[in-house]
Amino acid sequence: MVSIKINGKEYEVEEGKRLLQVFKELGIKVPNICYHEALLPAAACKLCVVEIREKGGAPRPRLSCAVKAKAGMEIITDSAMIHQLRTEAIGNLLKMAPHAEIIHKVGREFGLETGPKPDGCIRCRLCIRICADIIGAKALKMVRREGIKYVVPSEAGRCIGCGTCTNICPTGAIRAVDEDNIRTIMIRDEVVGRHPLERCEMCGTYFATSSFLEHVEEREGAHPREKEKHKYCPICTKLRARTKVKITAPHLEKTYGGKPLD
Ligand code: SF4
Repeated sequence: MVSIKINGKEYEVEEGKRLLQVFKELGIKVPNICYHEALLPAAACKLCVVEIREKGGAPRPRLSCAVKAKAGMEIITDSAMIHQLRTEAIGNLLKMAPHAEIIHKVGREFGLETGPKPDGCIRCRLCIRICADIIGAKALKMVRREGIKYVVPSEAGRCIGCGTCTNICPTGAIRAVDEDNIRTIMIRDEVVGRHPLERCEMCGTYFATSSFLEHVEEREGAHPREKEKHKYCPICTKLRARTKVKITAPHLEKTYGGKPLD
């Protein structure tokens, strides 16, 4: 056994034991991710850095997983310098694995800045702007939560489920999920809007929400050439415009004006 000082307190510890293991056994918390008791230390994550003073020399930062206990060592497990080094270390780990929950967890536990947990959003505001400026729904906004900006739903009931934001989003962070004829617009796990889908009167595909169709109707008014309101999906609308054939019944799924479709 040898005598060492940790954070100003004297301890008797086994000579040659890895310092990180010593800390664990004494219940002294030091961050680490790559250390495993069954393996030799790799000194890879660099989070377990501590200040060590030996033989009256100046304190030096060293990785405690790799350093063995020696008589007379004086160790400081946290200081401004150590905090800075750990912040750099955690930043390097996040560059490699930004989504890894363990890194964010260790960061939270030891007060190390890990930034926002990645949600795929680059805060370009394209979704917010298109929803407000082109669609006019103003269903999205930016808010600050614990100092970090997030795109969130603005107010319940504003979203009309058009899906424009999901189409313009460059990263896929905001998405539309069509399931059981219901469209859900989501960002992270937050629901922006949930709407039943309407069927195309020609091909029967569920293609748009009723709120969106009503919105278009209100904004555009009825098409001058249309005598009555129809709900056609974009493909059928194009086909209809191209062939200029008046379709009178939705049951003509396979034919257009009596001619077979390709
Ligand atoms: S789906 Fe909702 S949030 Fe997205 S652009 Fe349309 S109205 Fe706005």
